[in-house]
Amino acid sequence: MMPANNIQDEHTFGEFGGVNPSISDSATYTFLAAKTMGDTFEGSSEGCYLYSRHTSPSNLHLSNTLAAMEGTESAHVTGSGMGAITSVLLQLCGASDHIVSSRTIYGGTWAFMKNFLPKFSINTSFVDITSLEAIEAAITKNTKVIYCESVSNPLLEIADIPRLAEIAKRHNVKLVVDNTFTPLIISANKLGADITIHSLTKFINGTNDTVGGVICADTEFIDNLKSVMDGAAMLLGPVMDSYRSASILKNMRTLHIRMQKHSQNAKYISEQLEQDGIRVVYPGLKSHKNHKTISSLYNPEFGFGGMLTIDAGDLETANKLMEAMQKKGVGFLAVSLGFYKTLFNAPGTATSSEIPIEEQQEMGLNDGLIRFSMGLDHDIKRTYEWIRECLIEVEMLTPLYDSMNLYKLEIAQNELILN
Ligand SMILES: *Cc1c(COP(=O)(O)O)cnc(C)c1O
Repeated sequence: MMPANNIQDEHTFGEFGGVNPSISDSATYTFLAAKTMGDTFEGSSEGCYLYSRHTSPSNLHLSNTLAAMEGTESAHVTGSGMGAITSVLLQLCGASDHIVSSRTIYGGTWAFMKNFLPKFSINTSFVDITSLEAIEAAITKNTKVIYCESVSNPLLEIADIPRLAEIAKRHNVKLVVDNTFTPLIISANKLGADITIHSLTKFINGTNDTVGGVICADTEFIDNLKSVMDGAAMLLGPVMDSYRSASILKNMRTLHIRMQKHSQNAKYISEQLEQDGIRVVYPGLKSHKNHKTISSLYNPEFGFGGMLTIDAGDLETANKLMEAMQKKGVGFLAVSLGFYKTLFNAPGTATSSEIPIEEQQEMGLNDGLIRFSMGLDHDIKRTYEWIRECLIEVEMLTPLYDSMNLYKLEIAQNELILN
């Protein structure tokens, strides 16, 4: 699977030979023959556009590029990641259907399953996604979907997609994977997922100037989603604007370089933190509990991703550290991820705050956890120096550690002199 090559090879010229495709600036489209309009309504006329809630040329260019990246037959872009997730779940599930979901997922997805879908009698069992027995045990005759994130938010647990796919196939349910944290790094459909979702808001767009989403799957499912009769993406209307999709497509041209840099920087920082005795979770560290799993699944040239977490012990220390890091210029105290600048927040009170405290504790999400989305810093050594100064300032590292090292250095020097 060569996702970066596939993106690069997917190219459309503008109608006057422009190196970028033209941006479509229309909500509706004319037909030369009345019959073609009827055919398009029935979803069968290739190359004809009907109405921009269904699709537009700009949205189709971006969708095709994302399908190429994931290696799926087709894709459909949406106005946000949640627009993609909610459309997929409502397309796959009806009244009294059941979902088996990872318990560590994006807070919005969790809230949708826990609080919104029960209005339609669609219920969800939340399980530890790394326990195949727990997943198998949660499946009932009404289960339609196994849902997970390839690298989970915020605990960075790794879903063993090929094994989950095997379970899904055996029970005739769909495996839906949110791959937002690991574009290019994990090719979820190639590993067996039926449907791969991204929030384009994060790494894929990378400039934090818009929200967006995509659903990558086979043509049959994407056509169903867009059906004028009963397609969730068509009828719920989570449409992306053409100007935005044109802009996201241009940003995708540098995605492979950005992912490599995010990964490189996150690996360096987590190694340094670990060496300094800070409790750090990063899929690229040997100490990560699912390091073997991700090592067998990922596309190595893009690394282990830009996300890491540290444990500051308690919320007060976490908050102090984040404020200190913001002041020092390490990055911004903000939700979201995939930006050129490092972003950090305490998920317990921010991006996962939809999840009640007791349930957060049960899944191992403690309130001292800080999630980092490492930026594209050129001089990452300087960044670590700053982080280190902040760790000392909030007493997560003692200057004693430094003086110990100096002390050892002195002994060594004295020995040199004595010898
Ligand atoms: C941000 C995010 C979403 C939601 O995407 P939006 O574009 O904000 O709607 C879903 N899943 C994950 C893993 C995310 O990080």
